[in-house]
Amino acid sequence: MKKIASFTVNHLTLQRGVYLSRRDALQNGEVITTFDIRMTEPNRQPALSGKSLHAIEHLAATYLRNRNDWAGKIIYWGPMGCRTGNYLVVCGDYRPDDILPLLRDTFAFIAGFEGDIPGATARDCGNYTYMDLARAKADASRYLDEVLANPVTEYPQ
Ligand SMILES: [Zn+2]
Repeated sequence: MKKIASFTVNHLTLQRGVYLSRRDALQNGEVITTFDIRMTEPNRQPALSGKSLHAIEHLAATYLRNRNDWAGKIIYWGPMGCRTGNYLVVCGDYRPDDILPLLRDTFAFIAGFEGDIPGATARDCGNYTYMDLARAKADASRYLDEVLANPVTEYPQ
């Protein structure tokens, strides 16, 4: 089988950052953009915990879909299986710089979140106790301070 595009990124030198992963044109000409929201250095820093990433997923998805200026363009937010980051899929042709303010707001929301995680109930989620809010807040805060302040946005060659 053909190696898919996301496996051709050189993970040996990939830094934490915000990357344009894919740009897909639909048949009607509309563009769907997939961003790589990379929170840890692959294979060099510890991956995020599954529980942290799950809490980040619930909080980010909730925040993004409640942002009036972006909600209608958000298609998907979800964790990478390798637990080093997330994918954000948006409707429209965008670059990392276009979404940096939105990402900073999203991670600031997570870093400061108090209370019950939205959707963290047996009715609303498939594994609702598999959450770690304290770790999610710490991971979000670190990404905000160490990466989103001045993120790398170009994949290594
Ligand atoms: Zn869930």
